Amino acid sequence: MLIVKKFGGTSVGDKERIFNVARRCIEDYKKGHDVVVVLSAMGKMTDELIAKAKDINPNPSKREMDMLFTTGEQTSVALMAMAMDALGVPAVSLNAFQVAMHSTNKYGNARLKRIDTERIHHELDQRKIVLVTGFQGIDHYNNYTTLGRGGSDTTAVALAAALRADACEIYTDVEGVYTADPRKVKDARKLKEITYNEMLELATLGAGVLHNRSVELAKKHGVQLVVRSSLNTAEGTTVKEATSMEEKVVSGVAGDKNAARIAVMGLHDEPGIAFKLFNLLARNNINVDIILQSVGRDGTKDISFTVTEDSADETVEVIKNNFPRAKYKEIDVETKVAKVSVVGAGMLAHPGVAANMFQALYQHDINIRMISTSEIRVTVLVNEDDMEKAMNAVHEAYGLQEA
Ligand code: ADP
Ligand code: ASP
Ligand code: MG
Repeated sequence: MLIVKKFGGTSVGDKERIFNVARRCIEDYKKGHDVVVVLSAMGKMTDELIAKAKDINPNPSKREMDMLFTTGEQTSVALMAMAMDALGVPAVSLNAFQVAMHSTNKYGNARLKRIDTERIHHELDQRKIVLVTGFQGIDHYNNYTTLGRGGSDTTAVALAAALRADACEIYTDVEGVYTADPRKVKDARKLKEITYNEMLELATLGAGVLHNRSVELAKKHGVQLVVRSSLNTAEGTTVKEATSMEEKVVSGVAGDKNAARIAVMGLHDEPGIAFKLFNLLARNNINVDIILQSVGRDGTKDISFTVTEDSADETVEVIKNNFPRAKYKEIDVETKVAKVSVVGAGMLAHPGVAANMFQALYQHDINIRMISTSEIRVTVLVNEDDMEKAMNAVHEAYGLQEA
């Protein structure tokens, strides 16, 4: 069997944990399996690298940031190889260049395109455990790129697909995927299974347990994922195409503080104005989420929308520099907002789902700023300070704490 195992930052955070991971991998190796291990940077190392960079230059180049980031995962794989060696098992560490993990050239948010498997197979044939750096790729000119925060999950899934692995296991600091972040909602319940589509929505809406792109890739290539704890042997959560369990109307709640609301006010109320505004943002690669347009009055209207908080400044710049000044009065930005979402494949057939959510928020005196819905989710924008209260209220309203 060929197994891809991925361990996150906390799971390799110190010497003891590194040896703990080494032993778990060696267990599979000794059963005769081929073992490929993807590692993240230790503990908070990626955040520390950002702080170091900003201390030197508040506006560091994205290329150099990626060059810096790659040292984090490189440290982990080298130390892990040394730990395995100390335990008497041959291992080799490889970075994205050595494997040849080809990606697009968008620094900080690159996408993997193609992975050469020759080197990895060669090392596995020598009966070595192969340790691969997560989160990184190389572009056409061999520049290092990174895949976006949390991107090591995506490395693992891409490798599992390229190597046609028999299993892809994501080890983290919780026991699996829960109905909500167990650190924010104390009654959150571990799910036995979840579909790709639901997991993709949850991950995109703020459930950081899996990088959303990893779920997209897993779905595309039919890679079944197991998310479980690196610290104990409890059964985890399987992420797959369809679940055998009775479909619940709602499967989870997610919250995301990385949101900002932008309002363009006093826009000329004429055909094509929304197109021009959003086309401009799309051309600048700015992802817009919830959109709200007010009723026109005196020939003008307001359009508000949300973007990620880290792209708010850029969004305002793009509008100020490119949108005709005569076509609007002012732009307003608010960053102290958060998105709270409920996700469930069963929603399609149940019209009352959104109303339930609004009632729960009303009962807890939480004001809804914006609303957006899709076939399998309802998202509301609330004040950032209300996020956890809202997540708990909604989680309880749908009875998610009960099995
Ligand atoms: P790793 O370093 O292992 O990749 P992450 O911090 O990226 O770990 O992801 C694990 C964290 O995701 C958990 O500690 C938990 O707080 C958070 N999380 C958010 N939503 C969920 C959820 N629905 N189920 C489980 N964990 C979640
Ligand atoms: N080390 C990277 C991060 O902190 C990638 C990862 O952990 O998945 O975002
Ligand atoms: Mg992660």
